[in-house]
Amino acid sequence: MFNLVKGTHDVILDEAQKYTYIENVLQNTAQLFGYKEFRTPIIETSELFLRSVGDSSDIVRKEMYTFEDKGGRSITLRPEITAGIVRSMVNAKLFAMQDYPVKGYYTGPCFRYERPQQGRYRQFNQFGIECIGITSPHRDAEVISMGFDSLVFLGFENVTLKINTLGDDESRENYKKALRDYFGSHIENMCNDCKERYQLNVLRILDCKDPDDQEIVKNAPKISDFLSENAKQSFETIKKDLDFLNIPYEVDESLVRGLDYYSGVVFEFHYTSSKGKNYGAIGAGGHYGKLVSEIGGPEVEGCGYAMGIERLASVMSDDNLFEDLTDTTDIYVMPLGERATAASLGIANYLRVSGYNCEVCLEGKGMSQMFKKAERRNALYAIIVGDNELDNDEFVIKNLASQEQFKVSSDDLLKKLDELLNFEGRKHFECCDGDCDCDGDCDCAESEENKGCCCSHKE
Ligand code: ATP
Ligand code: MG
Repeated sequence: MFNLVKGTHDVILDEAQKYTYIENVLQNTAQLFGYKEFRTPIIETSELFLRSVGDSSDIVRKEMYTFEDKGGRSITLRPEITAGIVRSMVNAKLFAMQDYPVKGYYTGPCFRYERPQQGRYRQFNQFGIECIGITSPHRDAEVISMGFDSLVFLGFENVTLKINTLGDDESRENYKKALRDYFGSHIENMCNDCKERYQLNVLRILDCKDPDDQEIVKNAPKISDFLSENAKQSFETIKKDLDFLNIPYEVDESLVRGLDYYSGVVFEFHYTSSKGKNYGAIGAGGHYGKLVSEIGGPEVEGCGYAMGIERLASVMSDDNLFEDLTDTTDIYVMPLGERATAASLGIANYLRVSGYNCEVCLEGKGMSQMFKKAERRNALYAIIVGDNELDNDEFVIKNLASQEQFKVSSDDLLKKLDELLNFEGRKHFECCDGDCDCDGDCDCAESEENKGCCCSHKE
């Protein structure tokens, strides 16, 4: 027996099906908004994250899996995916086309050396989007609304959206000065992390989770008092857009986010499951002003977010948001005897290419055992094949729920199954039953009703 590496987990069977479902919904939503898929390497140069995520972030300070490869290069397992996506866009010269915004989505594993706990792993999966080349705060609002809509499509009803603004450079510099003055007289009594944050990036202190420190943070100056006119206006526009779209939000002035590249609007999606468990934010993101140019691209701004698939799967399981995920087998083929077993391999394949999810018993079991197997696979119908059936070119179809039984000729098998399983849209070979010799050289496929007949396939 080998144990899992601490902080990692297997995603198997039903759990894997849940992950795929979540990822599909998130990807489909991104596609509805015109985003295209990006797949970038899991390993990147360490320098990429130092430059982007930033050396004052917890991620770079203590959470990265960094190693030297055999060629002496410093490599890091990606702790987040934004930096890699932006790097790929720069490398592919996507910004040279100036068709802004450039919009991409991604799905995949991230690695952070954190203390494992509920909702927190060392290898976890993120889905995220990046929208780059933003010149209007309406675009930030669209990004936030897309995150919100994805959660609605997943079945969430009461997501809490927290938003804040970190302002522009000027607002932030003034604010940081005020924070340094304020925390200067408290820092001796705060946690060691905060002492480090005070030196590296005082904004980070607002993110401290220590309850005693949080009391001190409560009375710290607020960013809203330091915003430039421009920064204020952008934030107002975003809030108005969210109001217009009927997306509820809370302004949370202590929200600063853990990555150094953010500026402007930042946001987090929170949800407490009905079991009252807190898995942390299910998604988060924000606007970034300098990230693209830091990575070698032009001076353009972007906005994006990432969702944690593990956390989504946990809250959705707690709140039964997966009720539509059924794992059924359409047809279980039950052969009786050696001859029927061989024939059933072919029958099952015929059903699969016809669009049915189908399993076949090849182990020479008796009838009652095969029914048990069919039940364990949640099969809807069984097809029973014996020597008699083969001799007469017919099959017995059994509805496993109602126990109703039908005898059909092999010619009518598909038609009957389509009817029983409500399969719509099958292309029937109506013109020639799929066995004409025209080699596509007739015009029976031209007419509207014969569209998709075998002749057109041959063409
Ligand atoms: P947190 O404040 O919970 O540490 P974060 O700000 O570090 O989150 P991001 O870097 O913004 O998180 O990542 C986006 C999303 O990825 C989070 O909202 C969360 O759902 C998920 N996530 C982050 N870290 C982990 C982890 N260690 N395990 C599982 N999911 C995670
Ligand atoms: Mg974190």
